[in-house]
Amino acid sequence: MSDVQATQHRTSSPEALGKASVLIAGAGIGGLCAAIAFARAGVPVQVFEQQPLPVTVGAGIQLSPNATRVLASLELLDPIARVATRPQALETRSYRSGRVIARHELNAEWTNTMGAPYLHVYRPDLMRVLIEQVAGYPNIHLAWGTRVDAFREDDGGVSVITEKGEFTGAVLIGADGIHSRVASGLFPDVSPTYTGQTAYRALVRADQLPPGHYPVQATVYWGPGRHIVSYFVGDYMNLVCVVEGEAPGKESWVEPASKAAMLAHFKAWHEPLVRLLERADPETIYKWSLYDRPPLPAWSRSRVTLLGDACHAMLPFLAQGAAMAIEDAGVLSALVTPMLANRKVDGVALRSALQDYDQLRLARTHWVQAGARRNATVFHLKGIAAWLRNRAAAKAGHRTLDRLYRFDVETNLRNFLAQKK
Ligand SMILES: Cc1cc2nc3c(=O)[nH]c(=O)nc-3n(C[C@H](O)[C@H](O)[C@H](O)COP(=O)(O)OP(=O)(O)OC[C@H]3O[C@@H](n4cnc5c(N)ncnc54)[C@H](O)[C@@H]3O)c2cc1C
Repeated sequence: MSDVQATQHRTSSPEALGKASVLIAGAGIGGLCAAIAFARAGVPVQVFEQQPLPVTVGAGIQLSPNATRVLASLELLDPIARVATRPQALETRSYRSGRVIARHELNAEWTNTMGAPYLHVYRPDLMRVLIEQVAGYPNIHLAWGTRVDAFREDDGGVSVITEKGEFTGAVLIGADGIHSRVASGLFPDVSPTYTGQTAYRALVRADQLPPGHYPVQATVYWGPGRHIVSYFVGDYMNLVCVVEGEAPGKESWVEPASKAAMLAHFKAWHEPLVRLLERADPETIYKWSLYDRPPLPAWSRSRVTLLGDACHAMLPFLAQGAAMAIEDAGVLSALVTPMLANRKVDGVALRSALQDYDQLRLARTHWVQAGARRNATVFHLKGIAAWLRNRAAAKAGHRTLDRLYRFDVETNLRNFLAQKK
């Protein structure tokens, strides 16, 4: 952590970066990827993060090829892959017998076809890599402990208002997560809503597991009103145990939960699975009430826009939260960078680029949000409906996953711009 603090002092001051800079609220996964994407193209960036230091909370993040393709184009894939795990398959199993219902191979042949790998990564490791990469760009100023409270726009630019002062740039990106203040400024009537789903998150030390017993893959166990997802991240197995029907709690990453409360929901489940939950490190068990954001009709207004959870927070049931934020960062930087070239800002062209961004990203993210919501029903079916689902699962799953993972931000952008001409 001290390395991160030391390196940030080498970056430019906000004054030096000037009015042609991009302002980013939030140094999460989406905000940092966007900062790097702009900085690589020579655009000055100011990032404001409310946390005083990089946070070490969080557990597993899944990065599918649609996201790792963007990371590769930003030269981030290699450093991230070094701290990540490569799953061999995505598998669905029955909650009661552990029987395999469907399996999607993620082997070398599949990775070659995709042109990009599927990765599992421990969020604090991913954040460390991104922060280290940011420190290598002198045109990024990352201000920790600086919460964006509001923003103000005029013809000459946009300013963020923080308790440490006001900072001006050409465009503001709200990458400030599910409780985004920038989104509230743009759309005061829209707020995250409780989905009726609660996740118990836990980690099991890999050295506590019988050797070779658990394959390196993502496994989802479907059961009535509940499901469990397991996969390895670094030295741990990451468990996400979702139950429906609990009263809404805090949307928080740091709400502790007891092992007994978690286990109580899974009493009649496949016995080896229950044994696995029993091995969870009590210090790592958290309860996470799952909220999402209703699809917004637009994300941008004038010189302000949004990305990631700020505009499309979704249930994690397609494992696409981080992936969509990374896709957003790739598209937004490619569209906006030309408008900021040579530090001369063309306000009209900038607005038009932000409208293009909305047009390109809204349909894709609405589709993914809706798919994640649909999975809340599909994963939790009971009785005959569950039996029919299991029979249909293998084929249907592959089609959706293919459409998700084959998506290429650069091709999508090229086609869109060609059609516009
Ligand atoms: C601490 C934490 C732990 C997480 N752990 C997991 C996990 O284990 N598994 C999982 O699937 N997903 C996790 N997530 C969510 C996941 O990172 C996101 O769903 C996804 O990556 C989309 O990223 P994002 O950049 O849009 O938002 P986020 O990753 O949520 O980042 C938003 C950032 O904005 C900052 N911020 C918020 N408000 C302001 C403000 N007003 N001014 C300045 N900064 C602000 C936040 O502190 C945060 O750093 C976690 C998120 C956080 C914040």
